[in-house]
Amino acid sequence: MAKVLLVLYPDPLTGYPPAYARDSIPVLHGYPDGQTLPTPSSIDFTPGHLIGCVSGELGLRTFLEAAGHQLVVTSDKEGPDSVFDRELPDADVVISQPFWPAYLTADRIAKAPRLKLAITAGIGSDHVDLDAAIQRGITVAEETYSNSISVAEHTVMQILALVRNFVASHRWVEQGGWNIADCAQRAYDLEGMDVGIIAAGRIGLAVLRRLAPFSVNLHYTKTHRLDRAVERELNLTYHPDTASLARNVDVVSIHAPLHPQTYRLFDAAMLASMRRGAYIVNTARAEIVDRDAIVAALTDGHLAGYAGDVWYPQPPPTDHPWRSMPHNAMTPHVSGTTLSAQARYGAGTREILEAWLSGKPIRQEYLIVDGGHLAGVGATSYTVDGTTSPGSGH
Ligand code: NAD
Repeated sequence: MAKVLLVLYPDPLTGYPPAYARDSIPVLHGYPDGQTLPTPSSIDFTPGHLIGCVSGELGLRTFLEAAGHQLVVTSDKEGPDSVFDRELPDADVVISQPFWPAYLTADRIAKAPRLKLAITAGIGSDHVDLDAAIQRGITVAEETYSNSISVAEHTVMQILALVRNFVASHRWVEQGGWNIADCAQRAYDLEGMDVGIIAAGRIGLAVLRRLAPFSVNLHYTKTHRLDRAVERELNLTYHPDTASLARNVDVVSIHAPLHPQTYRLFDAAMLASMRRGAYIVNTARAEIVDRDAIVAALTDGHLAGYAGDVWYPQPPPTDHPWRSMPHNAMTPHVSGTTLSAQARYGAGTREILEAWLSGKPIRQEYLIVDGGHLAGVGATSYTVDGTTSPGSGH
């Protein structure tokens, strides 16, 4: 029998939804690069229902309990008295979502001698101390591609929200105003701008494809350069590094994982090198940028806007400066947890559990750490050198 500890975000303030805005979600047939959708033996939830919150239980309870396993679900994840810390010492599997991360620090891993598998329900496993997982032989897995397009769509929305000054304009409507000049004084067309993607992986490439019809000049950087055919198709300008890209664009969109190479990549010096009036959208991880340098650059006008959905820590305190900094179009960490995305990463989590519980290999493309080293997607997208660990930042 395995004990599975599942950390999910709390239910809606209005309670678990009795009904939904739409009756169904579209049926997809695969991911853009040909990767197959999750293949669990079956699912015990209705696609399109809210399974990412505590009452939704990722649809896992029936399956796990029928097989004799124990499932503990909680949103209480902070501090030594939290349910998470109390349940961790005899847990075999921890599942957590980046939207409400249970930070698996080296300290916590040391207090979990039975822990063998850490699943990220979604994408991005930086809330797990990967060095510590490697040392302990813990497998780290996530549902690669499950919410990549969800994030790409949110990114395009936030780029447009910033450049066109959507948030301030919407606020005038809510306040009963019709203040055209107030709205227009910071509103531009995206057309003709230089837009740069940091890390054209699954999300970054999807953003490039979605922005191409906007008649912008597309730039990108990436550890391994894209095929020349893709560069030609989308008319991309390749930059060998972030510094080169940052000084040549009007909009930067960040899509790299958080790992030692990207930790505080956008510091005060990198921001100062950017064009005056540039915009940054960051739906990757908050600690890729320097929190206070972003606030300073928005306040002194060097940056024209900042948006994204990733914060540190999560949830952020009520006085986190990004809640009130000028010209922001921030959201909570929601881009990758649409009801559409939940159906995919819920099924993917079940697929990983079914494989692991029956001693079968987990799909290679889901692996971040396995057998004491970076594996699968982890080997191509992450580095480890012991300098970054969850909880080390702001
Ligand atoms: P991916 O593995 O397909 O792509 C990541 C890319 O980053 C890879 O191509 C890798 O080569 C590149 N890269 C890594 N370090 C780099 C560096 N220093 N410079 C340039 N390129 C670098 O992953 P993905 O599905 O595109 O997701 C990317 C990240 O987005 C995740 O790791 C996660 O942190 C974040 N994410 C956020 C949400 C959300 O809800 N906001 C959801 C999913 C993923």
